[in-house]
Amino acid sequence: MSTPLTPGAAKKSLGQHFLFDPNVLKRVATAGGSVDGKTVIEVGPGPGGLTRALLDSGVGKLIAVELDDRFAEGLSRWPEAREGRLHVHHGDALKANIPALIEQTGGTSPAMIVANLPYNVGTPMLVEWLKAGANSEKQWRGTMVLMFQKEVALRICAAPDEDHYGRLAVLSQAVTRPRLAITLPPGAFRPPPKVDSAVVVLEPLGAADRFPHLDALEKVTAAAFGQRRKMLRAALKSLPGAVEALEASGIDPTRRAETLTQAEFRTLTVAWQKK
Ligand code: SAM
Repeated sequence: MSTPLTPGAAKKSLGQHFLFDPNVLKRVATAGGSVDGKTVIEVGPGPGGLTRALLDSGVGKLIAVELDDRFAEGLSRWPEAREGRLHVHHGDALKANIPALIEQTGGTSPAMIVANLPYNVGTPMLVEWLKAGANSEKQWRGTMVLMFQKEVALRICAAPDEDHYGRLAVLSQAVTRPRLAITLPPGAFRPPPKVDSAVVVLEPLGAADRFPHLDALEKVTAAAFGQRRKMLRAALKSLPGAVEALEASGIDPTRRAETLTQAEFRTLTVAWQKK
């Protein structure tokens, strides 16, 4: 059923590390809860192990976005593609218009995103999808189930004062509730990566709880964590208006970025936008 592939044929430049164990694939496919009848976006299906697990778990419409022609062509020949339950989009997920794909294929929103992401572009993809769900009335992006290097997964889920806490935790937790669901050793993949991997489930926050100004929060966190060992009043000098915003928001300027809570970053960002 899946595209034949020898481990030697994996392309390093596309971050290709494949999963073939059906038990592991089933756990990843359902880590975010039931996918039955839902529309799911899978980025980087590769030879299709996770694609198969998602289809077998009852996904209603599966939109698979793959850059490597070998896999895009192979998956297009699956019976589910002919029947219309699987739609293969051959292209770069960073450039794909996902809401348009959902509409064109008759999918429903919000759609889940389930993916074993290429390590080299996993973080920019996540940031884009976080922004997609920040403030639109009609959300196209629902729960995300994403595999990263374990280090990145820890950075997404970290709390203030923890080693991994930084920009990625603040941005992720502004619009979702992330949790680390599955950890996998290098040997679970072919070819094996150098480090452990982990699946993070990111549940979207409701409209009342999510922070809509993600572009501004991205700038504030980039400045604040750019020099994370410095006091905030020094670190924020790189962003015009941010030191004044810090004073206006009543946050002790001698604190360091890694001690600020989600609520304090929101207060600081709102104050910065007024400057
Ligand atoms: N889902 C498969 C699995 O779990 O075995 C493959 C995962 S592999 C880590 C990442 C996949 O993403 C590869 O198939 C690779 O070709 C694809 N890929 C890499 N960059 C991409 C991009 N910018 N857009 C779409 N797919 C991409």
